[in-house]
Order: sequence, then C-alpha cells, then structure tokens
Amino acid sequence: MGKKMSIYDEDNTVRTSKSEVNLEVASGDISNANAKNCAQFFPPGPQSLRPTELPAGHAIEKCTSRLIVSKLVNKRISKKLKDLYLKPTKENILFFLTTEDKGIIKELYSFAGKVREEHTGNFVHLRGLIEFSNYCFRSCHYCGLNKENKKVPRFRIPKETIVEIAIEAANNGYKTIVLQSGEDTFYSIEDYIYIIKSIKSKVDVAITLAIGEKTFEEYKILKENGADRYLLKHETSNADLYHKLNPGMSHKYRIDSLKELKRLGFQVGSGIMIGLPGQTVESIADDILLFKELDLDMIGCGPFISHEETPLAGSPSGNPELAFRVLAINRIITKNTNLPFTTALSVLTKEQKTSFTDPFFKGANVLMPKLTPLKYQKLYDIYPNDNRYDGNSKEFIKDMNKTLSVKGLKTSTSLGNRNR
Ligand code: SF4
Repeated sequence: MGKKMSIYDEDNTVRTSKSEVNLEVASGDISNANAKNCAQFFPPGPQSLRPTELPAGHAIEKCTSRLIVSKLVNKRISKKLKDLYLKPTKENILFFLTTEDKGIIKELYSFAGKVREEHTGNFVHLRGLIEFSNYCFRSCHYCGLNKENKKVPRFRIPKETIVEIAIEAANNGYKTIVLQSGEDTFYSIEDYIYIIKSIKSKVDVAITLAIGEKTFEEYKILKENGADRYLLKHETSNADLYHKLNPGMSHKYRIDSLKELKRLGFQVGSGIMIGLPGQTVESIADDILLFKELDLDMIGCGPFISHEETPLAGSPSGNPELAFRVLAINRIITKNTNLPFTTALSVLTKEQKTSFTDPFFKGANVLMPKLTPLKYQKLYDIYPNDNRYDGNSKEFIKDMNKTLSVKGLKTSTSLGNRNR
C-alpha cells in the first residue's frame, strides 16, 4: 500500500509533481489507465501550481478531481452517499434530510467530514467579522434590525475606525475581513472604496462585503477597487415565501445579483435560514440544488431564531439537527465550497454537549469570529444572541488555535479563496 496523503497543501495548492501523483496512484484504487491519463496532464516546471492561477476547467483540476473521487467513493460507503457525491438529485437530498435512521445519519456526517478533509484539508479559515452599522431601511420579517424595530439603539462605526479594527485583526493573523451591516445608505460607494483601499494598502487580507443589495454598476466599482468577496444570502429559493418575508424586495434581483457578482469575479457567498415559518423540507432541497447550480464559493446555513421585535415573534426556532444535515449535504455535493459553522447554529447548540469542533467533522471549514467592538455587539441584534467576545484579543486567538489543534485542525494562514 502506498502512503495515504491529501493532494492539497495549505491551502488549496494542488501538489503536481509526478512523484506525488505516483504516491496517489499507489495509495488509491484508480485504474492504471486513469493514472496514465492523469500523469500526462502534469506539466514540467514548478512543483506546485495554484489552481486559482490556472484557467477555469484546466485539465489538472479535472484530473485531480478524478483522483479524489476514486479515493473517497469506495465500497465502504452506501450507494445513496455515492450518488449524493457524484450525481445529487432532489430525491436523494430529501432522503438524507428526512431519514430517521441513526446509522445513516452517522454515515452522512462521517463522510462529510472526510470530504471536507480531502477537498479543503484540515484548515479552518477565520473570517474576522466587523458589524459596522445596524441601520437598515428594509423590513425583513425575520430580522431584529428591520426598520420597524424602534427599540434597538442604532449605531454606525466611523470608516476610520473600521480600518483600524481591520488592520489590528490582520496583524493578529486574520486573513479575511468581513464588513457587514444592515442596508444602510449612509455609507457611500466612495466610503467603501476608502475603507477597502486603506486596509489593503497596509495589510494583506481578502475583503468580503456583506452590505446588502447594490446596483450592478456599484458591484462592478467595488470589485474594481479591491473588494474580493460578496455575501448575499437569498434565504430561500421559494420566491413566494421570499416575497412574503421580505416586503418590497425581488427574489429575481437577489438571484440575478448573485450571478452578476460571480460574473464580475467576486468569490460569492449566499445561504438560507433553516426553519423559517412556511418553509418546507422540499424547499430546502431546492435551495441545496440552487447552491450547486450557482456554484457558490461560500454557503452559510443557520437555523432561524425568532426575534420578539419582528412579525415572526414567538415562532419556533429552526432545528439545529436539520441545519447540521444541510451542512453535511452541502459539503458532499459542493466538495470544496467554504462552509461556516454559523453563529446561529452555535447559539442553538451551545447548551448541548456538542463539541465546539464537532461541526468541522460534519463538513464545516470556516469560522467567523466577531471583531465588532463589544459595546456594539449587543446592538447588532439580528436575533437573540448572548454570545459576545473580543475576537481581536490575543487570548481569543490563542484559545481558538489550541482548541482546534487538539482535534488535528489548524487555523489557515492563507487567504482562503475557493478553487473554481
Ligand atoms: S436581514 Fe438584512 S436587509 Fe433585512 S432587515 Fe435585517 S439587516 Fe436589513
């Protein structure tokens, strides 16, 4: 037996030397013919190439995927899991969302953990989250920041302070800064350009924007001025439900925005809430297929948690177990998409005996620690959440690294872009 090794280094760098390929061939169960086909795609030259530097669909990527498939899909897993990995269908997704067979659920999680390890390594990406404004002119029925909520004091962090927080975080080791707010027109496009350029002129980080819908022209300007990623959750693929829960908004524009962001070259993230009133399990299966179709770079799926100052006050929370299944299925279907252990899921599971690291063995590979100053965290009141901490403190980062390393995981030191 050859030595078992992942084809990924830290991180997302594909090993391409022929000797390493041979190790893969020796360790796996791919056919000689397949191995020969693969070897011919590996060019002489640098020992490693980043797939992101290669044209989309380059033979190396296709070749390495075949190797991965051959290693993961073996006789030890059920046909339904193989199908989920190789050719997912709505019927198959529904099976895993609804089964009550504990053995099957255990196998689903275990396989998702292996797919995560094989396709993204044992690295956890920390995305430092700065919630810089809780003003919003929208009225989403599930969100405590909706404009009708007069009870929450509103705040805005000055752009200079946002830059300072981001630079401090980068110096503490964060490689991604997520700038998140309600839909707040106070900040102009020029303000975002100032923030992005001021951060990037001082530190090497990726910048993610989670600032709601903009015009296509504005998306373009933001990309041209250094924004790397854009998060825009579509919450549900059910357009009727979306329009009911998001008055005055267009589901079509949401989806069109995701496509346009992708076309512009952003790494694009989206996601849904699990357990929204009116949502069905069929609709969740459609969401998962839509994630696949959109070829998203990040997918966040957390359980719905009701907020008392919203029209959905008193509605039951989403089921964390269902959210974990969606996480695992997303991992198996999308392979290398960045999948966070969402804050909402951590809130609903913190009383349980679920280990903090457990979600990474069900498919997650991203954490989004809060860098928002503590005095503002309680005001960023999307849903009830007492989980407050200073993600920019040395102690927090040290503890995080220690907790992850106990389970064989490591904080990533790369920007953490997804290979396409
Ligand atoms: S979900 Fe976003 S857009 Fe909707 S009210 Fe909340 S912050 Fe505003």
